Amino acid sequence: MSRKVIIAGNWKMNKTAAEGKALVDALKPLVADVCPDVADIVVCPTFTTLAAVIDAVKGSNIKVGAQNVHWAESGAFTGEISAAMLKELGVEYVILGHSERRQYFGETDETVNKRLKAALAAGLKPIVCVGELLEERETGKTEKVLFTQLEGGLAGLSKEDMAKVVIAYEPVWAIGTGKTATPEIAEETHNYIRCTLNDMFGKEIGEGVRIQYGGSMKAENAKELVAQPNIDGGLIGGAALKADSFSALIHNA
Ligand code: PEP
Repeated sequence: MSRKVIIAGNWKMNKTAAEGKALVDALKPLVADVCPDVADIVVCPTFTTLAAVIDAVKGSNIKVGAQNVHWAESGAFTGEISAAMLKELGVEYVILGHSERRQYFGETDETVNKRLKAALAAGLKPIVCVGELLEERETGKTEKVLFTQLEGGLAGLSKEDMAKVVIAYEPVWAIGTGKTATPEIAEETHNYIRCTLNDMFGKEIGEGVRIQYGGSMKAENAKELVAQPNIDGGLIGGAALKADSFSALIHNA
């Protein structure tokens, strides 16, 4: 099955509104030749930079995502943002369960699942992150960890909803470390995720789900990674913070 490539830049806690606008203004002409039928290009700024970036991408082939969303519609949840708030701004995608959220902010498969359901109900397109720690890979627990994250994070989803979800496989040991999984290791793991999705939701849904690789992806390794049969794009941290490096990565992928 052919799946459209999706390259998303996770800006993390970088870029003020003015800096985000400048980055998008520089990126737009560099990626204007990328046909939206072939690849989705997404940038995911901080909450405070979203509005400026949504304004700056108008008329271009760049889409905008947020880095998290709360599950409640509204209420006493200081510091949180609802799906309706993101939708109203014009946000299209949302990253959920990033390993930094799991590691530093106590995110669990259960809270990822609640956020996922709220995002889908509001019409946002979720990018659900999964991935193992170095110690888990070295002790042969990768598949078990991924199975638990997929089973918990995607619990109770209908087939129709699952068809709208993107999975990002991000080995934690490769994020921001400069260590990339080899294309063979990444493909083997993506294939495991694909098989698990097929088992959970049926082949007609599982084969259509886009699975991004994330973890020190850059222009130099993007082509080989995305050439693998089950790697459908990338979730990019460091290399998405500059227009020239992100554009080069997108073109190579
Ligand atoms: C990420 O944070 O999702 C990520 C993949 O970061 P980096 O590309 O910097 O490893």
